Amino acid sequence: MVILSQINQAPMVLNIFSLIILIILNVVFFSKKRLHKVEDNLYAFLIIMESITISVGIVLGGLLYATIPNKFFWIAALNKVYLLGLIVSSSIFAYYTYCISHLYNPKSNLHKAIYFTFLFIVLFLIIVLPVDVQEVDGIAVTSGLVLIVTSVISILLYIVLFLLLIVDFKNINNKKYIPIYILLIESIITTVVQMIYPDLNYFINPSAVITCLIMYFTIENPDLKMIEQLNIAKSQAEKANNAKTDFLSNMSHEIRTPLNAIDGFSQLILEEDDINVIKDEARDIIEASQNLLEIVNGILDISKIEANKLEIVNTEYEPSKVFDELVKLTKARIGDKPLDFRISFDKDMPDYLNGDYVRLKQIVLNLLTNAVKYTKEGFIEFKVSTVKKDGVCRLIISVKDSGIGIKRENIDKLFTKFERFDLEKNMTIEGTGLGLAITKKLVELMNGKIVVDSVYGKGSTFTVAIDQKIVNKEKKKIEEVKDVKVTKTIIAKGKKVLIVDDNLINLKVAARLLSTYKITTEEVSSGFDCLKKIEEGNTYDLILMDDMMPKMSGMETFKKLQEMEGFNTPVVALTANAIAGMKEKYLNAGFNDYISKPIEKKELERVLKAYLNAKK
Ligand code: ADP
Repeated sequence: MVILSQINQAPMVLNIFSLIILIILNVVFFSKKRLHKVEDNLYAFLIIMESITISVGIVLGGLLYATIPNKFFWIAALNKVYLLGLIVSSSIFAYYTYCISHLYNPKSNLHKAIYFTFLFIVLFLIIVLPVDVQEVDGIAVTSGLVLIVTSVISILLYIVLFLLLIVDFKNINNKKYIPIYILLIESIITTVVQMIYPDLNYFINPSAVITCLIMYFTIENPDLKMIEQLNIAKSQAEKANNAKTDFLSNMSHEIRTPLNAIDGFSQLILEEDDINVIKDEARDIIEASQNLLEIVNGILDISKIEANKLEIVNTEYEPSKVFDELVKLTKARIGDKPLDFRISFDKDMPDYLNGDYVRLKQIVLNLLTNAVKYTKEGFIEFKVSTVKKDGVCRLIISVKDSGIGIKRENIDKLFTKFERFDLEKNMTIEGTGLGLAITKKLVELMNGKIVVDSVYGKGSTFTVAIDQKIVNKEKKKIEEVKDVKVTKTIIAKGKKVLIVDDNLINLKVAARLLSTYKITTEEVSSGFDCLKKIEEGNTYDLILMDDMMPKMSGMETFKKLQEMEGFNTPVVALTANAIAGMKEKYLNAGFNDYISKPIEKKELERVLKAYLNAKK
């Protein structure tokens, strides 16, 4: 039974003309520099496959009228190749549509697996299914199950295309879809024409060529794609440049504010005789310096996070201790502000957890500090609850305040760096707009979540959820080590310390600080001078060593000192190189300890006690 007839009267001219256009398209396309993205490569396959299919179609058309030995065998074989070509081309087109849609996930290999399984099944069916070739009125006519199956597969592919268009509805206005609409319209017209005039089935190849041409002139032109790529790169470079300029101007402003206080009060102190006023102004200088330090640390954190250099360091810790410390710090910040500080901690909190408690503290402290800063009166509520499952404890930490609140339209911008709101209201509140940006990034790095709920004028609630591993071990009954509070000044009379720093002001600051402990100091301004002092036989109880010095760094000087016979003076790195990981770097290099600049009194006293056995 003749099921479907095809190619029998296909006008050669139309097919040959299509082939010529396709060959030209191939030559032009492959002679250009291409981007080799997935869709470029698929388009390349598509035009090659179409060329092969049309060539096979032309040979097949010729064979129908030819008189050669085993004619029917060759017609049947070529017919299968032709059908395979048609299906492969259509499937490449469907795959292409998938790749330009928003569904495409370059990381997943599932779609490749589905595509190649489909091709394998089609290849198998076309090879095994029967095809009949009969002589009707002197012309070979093909029929058979294979024709029905390939028609069904073609229809299925069109359905897939159609579904892709529906699912990818939000991209519907995208010009990438123009060829797909055209192909669908062409297919509908071809199908309708074929239904009315069954013999007019020779439009398939020319319509495919038209689609390829339209694709070339709209979305697959390598020149246009290159220009598009260049424009993207250009706008990205411009954006990066603008961000840098914004950053610099913001930073300049933020740094100048505390510097203004430091500079202004210092000048006033020089002219002031009243010791009480001097002390007051000195306190303001200390506060401004701490603000400045906070800004610098914030910038370091944000730049480390953006360069993906900030690492989460997990260690065992006692969560109750961390939260108690946060309470103490917050109480100190509240001072005499009329704020009711409410605390509620889960009683079933595990004794020990494993995680980065330093960053956890930073996250919560940022939220608590903001609550204190942006609440004039009322309350601040610090709540920690836990959910434990499979050895993991989810810490749900919320910080609620009855402060100024955040406008709805600002909520989305809240975690963007340098964003500050209601500046006219908050004129007197210090801030850089970096805190929440850092907080959010840290929460994300710890695989947690942060959400905000705020009513403008009423107050805000920030909630953080972070998972930490539970450590199962007995809690120490008696605190073995009590925190030593350094309240009184340490005295280390008679001890001798060598300070090595190329910056004279820094030398002066360190020497002056040490003199308050009755320590004798010697100052040298280079690694060479330090080595000379030791070579000359001078002995010290401690060496404070800067690292970044010209010609010979502190690290190099330290290595040379270690090589000296009998050298066993403790050496402490005293450096402004304070980014995360630096302390470890110096300790690993063999330094006895590390102090960052600006020198914190508490830190200095810790080191003095450790290495000079200083007494209170
Ligand atoms: P900073 O506090 O240094 O300005 P943040 O990044 O911590 O920077 O906060 C950004 C902005 O978000 C603040 O300037 C403030 O306008 C707003 N904000 C943050 N926390 C609160 C809060 N608890 N209540 C009201 N506004 C807040």
